[in-house]
Amino acid sequence: MSTIAAIATAASNGGIGIIRISGKESFSILDKIFKAFKPQKIEEILGYTMKYGHIINMETNEIIDEVLVSYFKEPKSYTTENMCEINSHGGIIIEQEILRQCLLAGAELAEPGEFTKRAFLNGRIDLSQAESVIDLINSKTSGEAKASMKQLEGELSKKVQQIRKMQLDIMADIEASIDYPEYDEVEEVTNKKLKKVLIEIKEKLEKLEKSYSNGKILKEGINTVIVGKPNAGKSSLLNAILDEDRAIVSSIEGTTRDTIEEFVTIHGIPLKLIDTAGIRNAKDEVEEIGVQKALKLIKEADLVIDIIDNTKTLEIEDREILDMLTERVAIILLNKIDMGDFQLEKCEEIKKAGKPVIKISAKTKEGIEALYQKIIEMFQLNKIEIEQGNVITNIRHKNQIHKAIEAIEKAEEILEQEMPIDLISVPIKQSLEELSAITGENVSEDIIAEIFSKFCLGK
Ligand code: GDP
Repeated sequence: MSTIAAIATAASNGGIGIIRISGKESFSILDKIFKAFKPQKIEEILGYTMKYGHIINMETNEIIDEVLVSYFKEPKSYTTENMCEINSHGGIIIEQEILRQCLLAGAELAEPGEFTKRAFLNGRIDLSQAESVIDLINSKTSGEAKASMKQLEGELSKKVQQIRKMQLDIMADIEASIDYPEYDEVEEVTNKKLKKVLIEIKEKLEKLEKSYSNGKILKEGINTVIVGKPNAGKSSLLNAILDEDRAIVSSIEGTTRDTIEEFVTIHGIPLKLIDTAGIRNAKDEVEEIGVQKALKLIKEADLVIDIIDNTKTLEIEDREILDMLTERVAIILLNKIDMGDFQLEKCEEIKKAGKPVIKISAKTKEGIEALYQKIIEMFQLNKIEIEQGNVITNIRHKNQIHKAIEAIEKAEEILEQEMPIDLISVPIKQSLEELSAITGENVSEDIIAEIFSKFCLGK
């Protein structure tokens, strides 16, 4: 493999910039452009140590920057290859000039994710661990970062290996029963055992697949839409939650014409909040668009917060909205409780909706904490599951698990129909292969290329 180089830090000015080099020739390339203040032979420099000196322009001999270089000797490095990291001043021009010198000295420009790809190809990490690196970098919530970190530590890989081991055991059993066809009882025992193990495998896989919805919440937040007729207090609620005046609070109906989206984390649960235009019979075209959008949003939301003005009797628009809540995960808020409690919860339509009702004041924030507690209760993310690495956040992994389940179901069908036992090994082998694709033992070049293309340069 060639020796590669890239700028690893973000492409903007900062305190420090890091240029990475990885490959057999790392140190000889470095030697051509780096003059240490206390020169030492590479054999004398220990891995995980740093040296201080200048990066020199190979063409003009001019000093480009004063730097610290860290040395990592194979196999103890990120890629398992010889590596060095040049810590320069964090200016884009300087970093680019140092990179140019690395290339002049014989390095090749690394592709996005190539360092991590090498860590994978050289066997230091498996594919799901490599993918968790990018997930960790792109995490939008602390929960997602935690789940990604668990995956980087190999928790998902361990789970997958456990299931694969069970599948391999089954394959061995089937082979044994094929090898001794004269013993009927072998086949009978195998059949019984097979049935049990297949159920067990399927349960484990289904648990992992289901955890993706938790993973999705960690990743994207609970898609929460706030609805209510104009002036019910939608913008005020959004502001109370956000604790700042980002949404325009106004007593003129329908000022919130389009939607406003905000991302907040409430007691560790990420919410993507969407404030809709007042749902009502549109008076003009712009509002019509807003209303239609709101209806669509309700259908797509994970959670609907219906806010009702508690100081007024229910109006037709309130009823229309209540109707839309059927079959939706929803909370009804009776707002403006600071103006007196008119006990709207006793109202037939609200009772009929069968959703949790919370009395709040968006103005004084009374009841807001109760709203949070309700959301936590409804969407309790099992913290233990995250900690044990039981949460899937990656859609590719989910799809592979789904395909593995389908193959196991096929095996169950064959068993059910009492067909020759060796036929079962085909779908079991299939499910084994689907799982192998998660850890990367069985995955095409194209998929690997696609996965790493999403990485940043220098990672
Ligand atoms: P939206 O049209 O549903 O977004 O409603 P707004 O948030 O713009 O609120 C409409 C009006 O009700 C504004 O004058 C707010 O100040 C007022 N309002 C909202 N929430 C409360 C509340 O909890 N108590 C009181 N007293 N007034 C509120």
